[in-house]
Amino acid sequence: MSESFDHASPHAGILETTQRFLQRSHRLYIDGRWVDASSGATRPVLDPATGQQISVMAEGNVQDVDAAVRAARKAFDGGEWRRLSTNERSRIVWKIGELIDVHAQELAELEVLDEGAPFAVVKDFWVRLAADHFRYYAGWPNKLNGDTIPVNMPGEWHAYTVREPVGVVGQIIPWNVPFLMAAWKLAPALAAGCTVVLKPAEDTPLTALRLAELCREAGVPDGVVNVITGGGDAGAALVAHPDIDKIAFTGSTETGKAIVRAAAQNLKRVSLELGGKSPVFVFPDADLANVIPGVAQAVLLNAGQACTAGSRLYIHEDVYDRVIDGVAQYASSLKLGHGLDPASQLGPLISARQFSRVSRMLQTGLDEGAQLVVGGQQHGDRGYFMQPTLLTGVRPGMSVYRDEIFGPVIAAMKISGENLDALAREANNTTYGLGASIWTNDVKRAHQLAARIRAGVIWINAHHSIDAAFPFGGFKQSGWGREMGKPGIELYTELKSVAINLG
Ligand code: NAP
Ligand code: MG
Repeated sequence: MSESFDHASPHAGILETTQRFLQRSHRLYIDGRWVDASSGATRPVLDPATGQQISVMAEGNVQDVDAAVRAARKAFDGGEWRRLSTNERSRIVWKIGELIDVHAQELAELEVLDEGAPFAVVKDFWVRLAADHFRYYAGWPNKLNGDTIPVNMPGEWHAYTVREPVGVVGQIIPWNVPFLMAAWKLAPALAAGCTVVLKPAEDTPLTALRLAELCREAGVPDGVVNVITGGGDAGAALVAHPDIDKIAFTGSTETGKAIVRAAAQNLKRVSLELGGKSPVFVFPDADLANVIPGVAQAVLLNAGQACTAGSRLYIHEDVYDRVIDGVAQYASSLKLGHGLDPASQLGPLISARQFSRVSRMLQTGLDEGAQLVVGGQQHGDRGYFMQPTLLTGVRPGMSVYRDEIFGPVIAAMKISGENLDALAREANNTTYGLGASIWTNDVKRAHQLAARIRAGVIWINAHHSIDAAFPFGGFKQSGWGREMGKPGIELYTELKSVAINLG
């Protein structure tokens, strides 16, 4: 199949509609209209597999953010969206999911060109999951009920609670898996009746812009969804804006901390999905045929650019050599290449900056005494590809043990014995607490270890499996709040208590 792929012009075979979308000079989406950035500034959009420019985006600044917040405030206060009948709001949110399905090929092509991941993963998993998020949250508007409260205040009372939309929400998303990130953010906020200003990462603006068009086509009123493309300063302007009621952020822990500091200004609500250094445990009774690709993909999915990357791999000594050999072989067998090439199994890192960051962290790991089993080099001579890399001899105290690398680097360690408290101490020896996986067929051990690990999402004999209904988020410095499922929509509500004196 790959013989027919034209490496010289990788996007030769894409849909006409995708071509046309790329050819546009993209603008900001404010109050239902496409407008230039007030400064007139633009910046190129790059394909990380080639380093070549594929499109142009507007560079929004503090004035543009202000205009978008004003539009979102007007739409919220005007009430058209939040007072819509719950059935009607459901219907529109559902329709967005349907439109994503209709345009799945185009969305997947745009995402591959902007983000780099292999097409099949993008279309069959991420774009489908994004549509699922809208369908899942479409079911919530008429289920956001409160309670009646049996109060003990003197006299006779009727007391109840209601859930109301939190208001105008600023949503800031990263460059990894950006279309799904946009869906994670928009679907529950819209279902709850909020209005939104979304800021995608400067490295991956395209699918968020296309999604804004689909929202409009589905019937979302003007001003309810606004999209400001631009850099971190546009994100910071959103966080600082006094008329934003809540910030929902996904990205690095460092930026998350900066957001918390800035949000203190007006005590806006903040939810955070941050980084991780998620542990993976392999026990001797696990089915090694599944374990080897499973634990390798726990890190290598999206070239390691995933917040739940299982980047600390703990292997029991009884199977250590077999797992290391298997993972090394699997990792070096993966075909790296442009995501639109059907033969590609692994894409590039997002940018030159991220490539040098990962290379630097890898080198520090080697300097600190980790051993390189496979990988460690740039792949090819264009784009930002890094070979899948396996390090052994990793010890606590090394930076590759401690820090989120966000690249295709597996740090492996040997464990012995069965003391689950000791293993959990090891797992919990991190400032993060996002994910973990446990590979074993012993149900008792799986549950006992899961109970001891301080992390928001724990998989048994799997890693990275997510679903719109399955809550997701972090303990410790991996975040605040849970997205997806019921907690995911509650993040976008305020609880109001009403007491009526009947006496
Ligand atoms: P980042 O700074 O956390 O960026 C995430 C989002 O926040 C982007 O939209 C970014 O805009 C925006 N942003 C940047 N500075 C901001 C500020 N002061 N206030 C508000 N928003 C701001 O991540 P990065 O710099 O792209 O990547 C650095 C490292 O973060 C990665 O190597 C990785 O380790 C980690 N990371 C983790 C996740 C995750 O899901 N856990 C996701 C992304 C990155 P621009 O992109 O336009 O600057
Ligand atoms: Mg790009």
